[in-house]
Amino acid sequence: NEDLLKKSEQLAMIGQLAAGVAHEIRNPLTTLKGFLQLMKENAEDDFYLGVIQGELDRIEIITNEFLALAKPRAVKFSLTSLTTLLTSSVEFIKMECLKQGVDVRFSVEEAEIYCDSHQMKQVILNVMKNALEAMPAGGLLNVQLEKVDGHGKISIQDNGSGIPPERMKHLGEPFYSTKEKGTGLGLMICQKIIKEHHGSLSIQSNVSEGTTVTILLPIANNH
Ligand code: ADP
Ligand code: MG
Repeated sequence: NEDLLKKSEQLAMIGQLAAGVAHEIRNPLTTLKGFLQLMKENAEDDFYLGVIQGELDRIEIITNEFLALAKPRAVKFSLTSLTTLLTSSVEFIKMECLKQGVDVRFSVEEAEIYCDSHQMKQVILNVMKNALEAMPAGGLLNVQLEKVDGHGKISIQDNGSGIPPERMKHLGEPFYSTKEKGTGLGLMICQKIIKEHHGSLSIQSNVSEGTTVTILLPIANNH
């Protein structure tokens, strides 16, 4: 009955149920992957096993991303150098850039924020991954951090495919993806995390120029 449960309560309940289901899927999934690995070690022609493994990997990625969204996780805020966090994130994807013919330009000022560094790194890596995926034939990834009006301003810019206006409005919708292997959950996760850090995330894009994602985060007091 619509009157008994307000819509927001219904949504919260559906979210909890779905997170519960996703959580329950993870255990049997781990078992399946373990046994599959054993089977692969004993098999001569493992084509079908490889297909099964690929599909299980995909279920795992979607389940994990979904849980990252739905499950309230213990967040650990601490004073963190955004500079160090960005530097290590760029280090992390450098090999991938090299393989793909993407040049990296990197320029950062010093800035400290209060954040859950694990979550913040997840945001940065998600955005950089999108940038790389938009430049399959190479390009330029430009990562910047500057201080603007008490905020750390992170810009992650690519000169890839860009996003046509009619697609812009769908960004951040759950499962909206234009990629064959995409989940369409990455940007939603980023938005959620940035909001929990009292920041903002915006996307500027142009089909002929590429895409810039701008993240603003309040700088920690006295830093
Ligand atoms: P996924 O990467 O799994 O597709 P995301 O939520 O990370 O999901 O991104 C959703 C969609 O937004 C992508 O499928 C793509 O169409 C678009 N997008 C995001 N970042 C970029 C980018 N840097 N350049 C072009 N398109 C992008
Ligand atoms: Mg993505």
